[in-house]
Amino acid sequence: MSEYYDFHTHLPQSPEGVTRMLCIVPGSNASPPFSSGIHPWDTAAPGVEEHLLWLEKHIDELAAVGEIGLDRLHGASLERQSELFLRQLQLADAHDLSVILHNVRCTPEILSMLRRPERALWHRAPVGRNKLIRIIDSGGAVSFTAESLRRLDPALVPLSRLGLETDDSGEDIRETYRIAAALWHVAPEELAAQLAANFRNLFHR
Ligand SMILES: [Zn+2]
Repeated sequence: MSEYYDFHTHLPQSPEGVTRMLCIVPGSNASPPFSSGIHPWDTAAPGVEEHLLWLEKHIDELAAVGEIGLDRLHGASLERQSELFLRQLQLADAHDLSVILHNVRCTPEILSMLRRPERALWHRAPVGRNKLIRIIDSGGAVSFTAESLRRLDPALVPLSRLGLETDDSGEDIRETYRIAAALWHVAPEELAAQLAANFRNLFHR
């Protein structure tokens, strides 16, 4: 039985005892569970329409759609990003899948586009107080790397909305769990049980 959950990673190899939600580029292969989506950074690249078709065709293999979202600094124009984001949100909704969100300086725009904010995991979520409160109030879940946990006020995040992730950092998720247990003042077993429930709740397929 898995003791640890990595809610978002791009690296296929995880230590033993870790269940990871691997994020793959549309058109590639992986062992489940995995998510896929058109990353905002790739929205100006050739092949976007083919990637959308691949997502539609392989949607039943996905455990979530993502990472998708909006990025004010990279990728296509925000208008084009919004169009692609919306189409992928609709695909996730139609198949009752959660979305894993990428957000750079677009929290209000993303919140206004989510029809089911409670089915969203905000990966590398903002740690700024006002943004974080808005996201938690919307019903969404938030996920952090070890590095971002160090800048976070844990009082703003109920454990029932928490995910932990390594993303592309190469960090050890077990160490991230240790940091989180100390930060929220909970026993490691309690944290592990809560995160297992959160993972199942978000990725219930
Ligand atoms: Zn990522």
